[in-house]
Amino acid sequence: MIEQSRAWIEIDRAALQHNVQALQKRLPPGCVLMPAVKANAYGHGAVPIARECQKMGIGAFCVAALAEGIELRQHGIAGDILILGWTDPQQAALLHQYRLTQTVVTLAYARELNRQGKPIEVHIKIDTGMHRLGIHWKDLDEIAGVFHCENLRVAGAFTHLCADSMAKEQGRRFYQTAARLKERGYSPQKIHLLASDGLIDHPELGGDYARVGLALYGIGSPELQPVLSLKARVAQVRELSEGESAGYELQFTAQRPSRIAVLTIGYGDGLPRALSCGGGRALLHGRKAPVAGLVCMDQTMVDVTEIPQASQGDTAVVLGRWGDLKISAAEVARQAGTIPNEILSRLGQRLDRIVL
Ligand SMILES: *Cc1c(COP(=O)(O)O)cnc(C)c1O
Repeated sequence: MIEQSRAWIEIDRAALQHNVQALQKRLPPGCVLMPAVKANAYGHGAVPIARECQKMGIGAFCVAALAEGIELRQHGIAGDILILGWTDPQQAALLHQYRLTQTVVTLAYARELNRQGKPIEVHIKIDTGMHRLGIHWKDLDEIAGVFHCENLRVAGAFTHLCADSMAKEQGRRFYQTAARLKERGYSPQKIHLLASDGLIDHPELGGDYARVGLALYGIGSPELQPVLSLKARVAQVRELSEGESAGYELQFTAQRPSRIAVLTIGYGDGLPRALSCGGGRALLHGRKAPVAGLVCMDQTMVDVTEIPQASQGDTAVVLGRWGDLKISAAEVARQAGTIPNEILSRLGQRLDRIVL
């Protein structure tokens, strides 16, 4: 399959396993991993990542959208699947049919879901300071109201940490809320608050699940290994004389007799256009080739003047390693003025995904 691909993602199963084990060692007592496989597992491919995790004994996942949960079920992923984001209550039948757990973020939303008349498992989102989704942690009556929705089974409650400086305080608020609910006779069952940063920096905050995304994919800590490589082919190599220009707006001009390789990947595949004109590079034959001119939708030109072996049909590494050289998602993110999560989650559907 790789032989025939235009541009593709390689998933390093050994790296994924390494990260799972490294993160499991850091888990607080009683806590298990709940990989975040939303946004196509941050571009890695939700089905292959969930499948590999399942083989490693992981039995809970979280996604952002109903369609993402359904896709996992249709590909045989068992266990708990928590939808972290909004689902139209009219879709209650699908939540029920595919045994998906829905996050409820207000009592009004819970009641609307309840009115659909389908038995549905829910986790209550509690806002402990991020002020994005969830019921305010002091609003105990509103939280308790969810337990009285007869079609909803409250299987969990969670919060999301938003800043390192707030983590301890958010933890305090969250556990205080859980304790007060217990005093009133409500048991939220599974409670959770850690994502990748939380697990790495504040494991003492505990909980029943760690909802890890970024760390699972090998980003954010030197002890973790990147799981994804992104590769493309050389469609053509051409020679330019000194002074000749290439690409849209002729943004590349040869300062010397030059060789330009055209790679089969572009911003339509998720490669940021901000890598244009030397901002980014690709690896060919273990050497760095800077981007020449503007990144196009389907192609990117790189300068291979100093890589005489470069020829049509070659493979180029756009993200990943070649010998001692590497291009990390963090490096590309820096060049593009964003964070690795955005770079990875935008990697397109047009890319093949292969587990090695
Ligand atoms: C995306 C997300 C996560 C995973 O975050 P990482 O920082 O990638 O580990 C966890 N919880 C919620 C609510 C999220 O939206």
